[in-house]
Amino acid sequence: MTQRSQTPDTALVLFSGGQDSTTCLAWALARYPHVETVGFHYGQRHAIEMACREPIRQALACDRLGIDHVVDLTATIAGLGQTAMTADIAIEMDQGGLPNTFVPGRNLLFLTCAAAIAYRRGLRRIVTGVCETDYSGYPDCRDDTVKAMQLALNLGMQRRFVLETPLMWRDKAATWALAFDLGGEALVGVIRELTHTCYLGNRTDRHIWGFGCGTCPACDLRARGWERWTQDGPVAGTITG
Ligand code: ZN
Repeated sequence: MTQRSQTPDTALVLFSGGQDSTTCLAWALARYPHVETVGFHYGQRHAIEMACREPIRQALACDRLGIDHVVDLTATIAGLGQTAMTADIAIEMDQGGLPNTFVPGRNLLFLTCAAAIAYRRGLRRIVTGVCETDYSGYPDCRDDTVKAMQLALNLGMQRRFVLETPLMWRDKAATWALAFDLGGEALVGVIRELTHTCYLGNRTDRHIWGFGCGTCPACDLRARGWERWTQDGPVAGTITG
């Protein structure tokens, strides 16, 4: 295995093709001269999000954007048991108050795989769109978890990775606002048209905030965030239709 020493200000973005990770990719491209992306197949109910990745990468292409990595964890996740994120069962809350879309350890696994790629590629920063503010309470998206993972990865791989979470304290309205700050209406347009969030894989129903069923928890968050941002944000009224 080839291995490079770490280059400062290089980043690997966990890039799923959704709103959050696309915003993170734009955020990283605005900061760092070299940015690579990584995506994971994990037996998602709908492959549509992964199919969105390349068109988004093309829309954001610039000399800072490096190669894309795709890791197939389907067999690994399947071997750990089914959840509503990976099997065709209804989305509901479990007894512990977590939605059954929670895949235990998934983000820990993703961060570990990302760090292994970053190690090999000599990348210092690992950027992930996890958020503690208004997501479904997934414990592996919390700030403490990510900080603990940074320590564990740095000790376990003898590196100085920096795990960056630009969305950690932003709600969905603030995520739309961040995209606008980073890339104006053009980036907001890319996110509306090309990113995918809907748990049900719906890409036929078009809303002002993008494609989706409009009723699943992911669509609901995205729609309410859009509503709050366009009502109260600094660009209120400038984006329509
Ligand atoms: Zn939906």
